[in-house]
Amino acid sequence: MAQPTTTASAWPDEPVPLSLDTAPVPAYGSGSLADLLPTLAAGLGVPGFEHRIAELAPADRVCVFLIDGLGWEQVRAHPAEAPFLTSLLDSSRGGTGRPLTAGFPATTATSLASVGTGLPPGAHGLVGYTVRDPGTGELMNQLRWRPWTPPHVWQPYPTVFTLADAAGVHTAQVSSPAFQDTPLTKVALSGGTFHGRLSGEERMDFTADRLAGADRALVYTYYSEVDGAGHRFGVDSDAWRGQLMHADQLVQRLAEQLPARSALYVTADHGMVDIPFDEESRIDFDEDWELRAGVALLGGEGRARHVYAVPGAANDVLACWREVLGDRFWVAGREEAIAAGWFGPHVDERVHGRIGDVVAAAHDDVALTASLAEPHESAMAGMHGSMTAAEQLVPLLEVRT
Ligand SMILES: [Zn+2]
Repeated sequence: MAQPTTTASAWPDEPVPLSLDTAPVPAYGSGSLADLLPTLAAGLGVPGFEHRIAELAPADRVCVFLIDGLGWEQVRAHPAEAPFLTSLLDSSRGGTGRPLTAGFPATTATSLASVGTGLPPGAHGLVGYTVRDPGTGELMNQLRWRPWTPPHVWQPYPTVFTLADAAGVHTAQVSSPAFQDTPLTKVALSGGTFHGRLSGEERMDFTADRLAGADRALVYTYYSEVDGAGHRFGVDSDAWRGQLMHADQLVQRLAEQLPARSALYVTADHGMVDIPFDEESRIDFDEDWELRAGVALLGGEGRARHVYAVPGAANDVLACWREVLGDRFWVAGREEAIAAGWFGPHVDERVHGRIGDVVAAAHDDVALTASLAEPHESAMAGMHGSMTAAEQLVPLLEVRT
């Protein structure tokens, strides 16, 4: 079942959804989100890191601006709303933009942990939106950290920020004050100093200030609302386009304030796809007796499901899910998904039991909703999580001074 790693630039536009073997695998090790900070840390001279993304040149002051939910394909499809980002894409205007792969699943908690730890999901262990805690048997929401679980037991590795800070690099995160003390921030983004700033404009200005204040700096900043508008109203809605225009202005505002010897990298945690509001496109697990048979817990999210079977039923559940969903989802058993490298080249022992007995990733514009257990998520217009290009590819756009 092992298959070659797909490079981000060679991602298939239209994956042929015939079998598990055709599922593309994120470019772990050379072109995924988990490779970004280690490459930047290597350029800053932090011990223990190597240069993994070939094209990135070192800089003394490095900034990562992560725009939640802004996929590579969505930027490319909206030059009018994103003129500044588009100029960074366009090689005829000196742009060097390229895509990275987010990692699987393409969801915020997983991707932020990949960015911050520099590790693929199989190592940091945040392998889904909700996953089963093998210690309690309960589902745990990784984004909201419910129920509470000791953060550093769940994710024991130090972040790249922590190691950079220890190596004498001025290290900071500039984000919403709401995220300052969350367990997800602790396990994914801690190290150096967290600065809470409410508005996007304040974050940009303060980020530029932090970069200018040190000879060697690593500063992370974040904007969430492109994702929010996409979930509520859909990609390409007026609200989403308005958020894209705002994000474009924020990037330009930061770029224009960059001090000398800086590199700004704009990226995202995942893209998004719109799911039509009809019964064919939204398969309701809570109403489907066939899919529910033998299932103890349903984790993940609409486009990337972890399915936990009752003892002894895993093979039957896998066969049934393949039969019912196989032409619209990639459906793998746990060991198949691990061997195929969906979660990275290696899955830590403590992480195995968090992965579903069956893993189902949508390749069509379809979602497996759960109208009773997840009424809020099931009603969303835009979703993400799977391995299609629209979700998996995120931009890596660079501004240098
Ligand atoms: Zn989202």
